[in-house]
Amino acid sequence: MSRILIAEDEARIASFIEKGLKSHGFTVSTAATAQETTTLVLGSDFDLLILDLGLPDQDGLQALEELRGQGAKLPVIILTARDDIDDKVAGLEGGADDYLTKPFRFEELLARVRLRLRNRSSVTPSEEMVLRVGEIELDLRTRQVCVGDHNIDLPTREFILAETFLRHPGQVLSREQLLDRVWGYDYDPGSNVVDVYVGYLRKKLGSQFFETVRGMGYRLRV
Ligand code: CA
Repeated sequence: MSRILIAEDEARIASFIEKGLKSHGFTVSTAATAQETTTLVLGSDFDLLILDLGLPDQDGLQALEELRGQGAKLPVIILTARDDIDDKVAGLEGGADDYLTKPFRFEELLARVRLRLRNRSSVTPSEEMVLRVGEIELDLRTRQVCVGDHNIDLPTREFILAETFLRHPGQVLSREQLLDRVWGYDYDPGSNVVDVYVGYLRKKLGSQFFETVRGMGYRLRV
């Protein structure tokens, strides 16, 4: 099980990332200050750090430099609202492995997290890479979906939605939960996008798999 530390002082964003990563099988801790981050990174054994640059007590880049100076070798993905190129260069020179600008989508972050963890030869990714429920099979590495003998190509968003269902077989997922997991924290909660995309999955994978639970949401039949 990969352990990830999120250093982010905005509680809403921290909890959005935390929930998402936990639902994908990661072990997650959070820190709201640079001080706390340094203590946690140096004092325990994290596999990856997600680092907000705008922390209240210290600039994230400075904190990162100090961590690297003290021998912390874990991959670091920087999160920041600043999108100018100077910060990006400084971040990568300062020892970051990757960079994501806010607002971002959870799936983008997840893809980068997976990539960084996979690139570490010393770490065996323990996250499950193939999900199976009944006839449906999802390969997270190749992004291929199989239903029985048929290969089906799904665009990213539909793939993530299918993945979310396969991680919770038989469980009712509300529209809010699905919006949150698949579309992220900055999505309009009044939108009917979930229903539209469940419709796409029904058409492509088979309508028998996705049950509408009236007034509650959707469920993957097992
Ligand atoms: Ca911040």
